[in-house]
Amino acid sequence: MIWIFGGVVTRETFVLKEYRGLKMLESPSLDLPWLLHAFTTRLGGVSEGPFSSLNLGYTVGDLPERVAANRKRLADALGYDLKRTVSGQQVHGTNVAVVSLRDAGAGALKPESSIPAADGLITSAPRLPLTAFFADCVPVYLVDTAKRAVAIVHAGWRGTVRRVASRTVARMSAAFGTRPADCIAVIGPAVGPCCYTVDAPVAREFQGWGREVSWQDGNRWRVDLREANRRDLLAAGVFPEKITVVDFCTACHPELMFSYRRDGSKTGRMAAVVMIR
Ligand SMILES: [Zn+2]
Repeated sequence: MIWIFGGVVTRETFVLKEYRGLKMLESPSLDLPWLLHAFTTRLGGVSEGPFSSLNLGYTVGDLPERVAANRKRLADALGYDLKRTVSGQQVHGTNVAVVSLRDAGAGALKPESSIPAADGLITSAPRLPLTAFFADCVPVYLVDTAKRAVAIVHAGWRGTVRRVASRTVARMSAAFGTRPADCIAVIGPAVGPCCYTVDAPVAREFQGWGREVSWQDGNRWRVDLREANRRDLLAAGVFPEKITVVDFCTACHPELMFSYRRDGSKTGRMAAVVMIR
């Protein structure tokens, strides 16, 4: 199946689906009967202005009641219980939290109740939706099909260069006995190298990652954060044929996606969701 959307032709790295008026991206590689996953677009919510319309982030200056309404819409559309969702604080670090039923609801409707200092969340508990929020940073979904464990990772450049994705694989191994060979990974929609230039100090952090991850372009450097995370997962032992990189740049698609790079700090957040049914 070939999808043509916004001028981008993709082959099965994602499909655009609609649930109760909310359009979302899904990866066919995570189409498993026991798994729910999605990456939201900005369409279908109640927020206005720069947050129009499905802003899911509390910390960006939008009205909290609108964010709550949007999160409820998302939960209802996908059919999970909002009050059980778990979110991390997302501090551009590398802490990965193992979460269980007693964490249900952490960060669901109050950002201050998020799992402290966590950028990665892993669980083997069913009906515990893990959510993370994005406006250009890289979402990494990890699914252990043998042990039935899942992870969601928030990887900006700081987390990427400090290998938060492979640390998450290691944490799953310690917590659940996950073998990297049993993992399916999806690197979701994020800012692409087309729209992501950095200055020399940031580029230097990626020294040794290869020319496909970071390269000079005039006075600036370009970084491909999705490729960097793919390489990090390969280094962790995830098989290349089990890693899908969603070929979709958030900054290139103002009609569908919020983008910090494109719009600055006054913009919304999309959500990545993963849950064992
Ligand atoms: Zn782009």
